[in-house]
Amino acid sequence: MAGPHDLAPMPPADVAPMPAREVALLSVVAPMYNEQATAVVFYERVASALAEVPFELVLVEDGSTDDTRAILTRIAQADTRVKVVLLSRNFGHQPALTAGLEHARGDVVVMIDADLQDPPELIAQMLEQWRGGVDVVYAVRDLRAGETRAKLWTAHLFYKLFRRMANIDLAAQSGDFRLMDRRPLDVLLAMPERNRFLRGMTVWVGYTQSAVRYERDPRYAGVTKYTPAKMLRFSFDAITSFSQLPLQLATLLGFLIAGFALFVAIPLTVVARYTNQFVPGISSTIVVLLLLGGIQLITVGIIGEYVGRIYDEVKRRPLYVVADRLNLPDAGPSTMDRRLGD
Ligand code: UDP
Ligand code: MG
Repeated sequence: MAGPHDLAPMPPADVAPMPAREVALLSVVAPMYNEQATAVVFYERVASALAEVPFELVLVEDGSTDDTRAILTRIAQADTRVKVVLLSRNFGHQPALTAGLEHARGDVVVMIDADLQDPPELIAQMLEQWRGGVDVVYAVRDLRAGETRAKLWTAHLFYKLFRRMANIDLAAQSGDFRLMDRRPLDVLLAMPERNRFLRGMTVWVGYTQSAVRYERDPRYAGVTKYTPAKMLRFSFDAITSFSQLPLQLATLLGFLIAGFALFVAIPLTVVARYTNQFVPGISSTIVVLLLLGGIQLITVGIIGEYVGRIYDEVKRRPLYVVADRLNLPDAGPSTMDRRLGD
């Protein structure tokens, strides 16, 4: 009778090293919002950088108000490797990027900005690391040419703050430019949150991760689509989705102030009462009142930021709406289609 002991012994795992992986299809995903001046050059640079690799270019048109849509339609007609997802309005960078990732069919996926600040030529280096077994390769910007001092400073401050508060190790100055293997990507796409800080989420999934360094070029044309207000909101999304420290800060402040009242202010008042050093203190009362009122409003505001995001999550609206698809099957199996289909 055949039992488990009759099976031929398995060769020890370390006899044959894992063969280097080869790409069957590489998906390059880029969101575009009013990028009429860069669209064609971006496509050409990606195509020539990846001449040796079987690739598809998934472009997400995020409700542009300029000629981007017409230009992308023309590119997609000329080259069927270019897939276009046309959103029904402007949904923002992170939702647009998510739309692209959900339509990508490759076994390796690269997310990249379409303004040529991230050089497509770097993808070859990222692929090299992937072949060697790394599942997530992120690009770290050594230098950022052509960006304002204010942007550099706020970005620096943001990464410092985020790294201190969040419980994931996001490399400083790593943007959304990164390569992912299909396995971590599927985990990422299964994460249902609406307030998406994608670069943080790619770190959260784990697997093997490594960095490639590069110098960030200036924008090829056009202006940044991130207004200061959008950047602030983006930073809040990032921190609230990976840290509860701001909420705990409220508790800490409460304890600090209560401790001060209990161990300093109250004993002092008692001493003053019995030594007859009573001074009428209207202004000090007002100062304390204002200070406490301010702290309370701030902490309520912080709680409000979280509550607002919880509300956003429980509504479970789709992240984006697709108006049209070019060179893609009509209803792709995206999260949104699945949800609407239920
Ligand atoms: N983008 C988008 N929707 C938006 C804003 C930006 O699809 O609402 C795209 C934009 O076209 C670009 C990328 O996201 O490809 C990064 O935007 P941008 O270069 O303006 O940001 P920055 O590099 O200045 O932070
Ligand atoms: Mg840019």
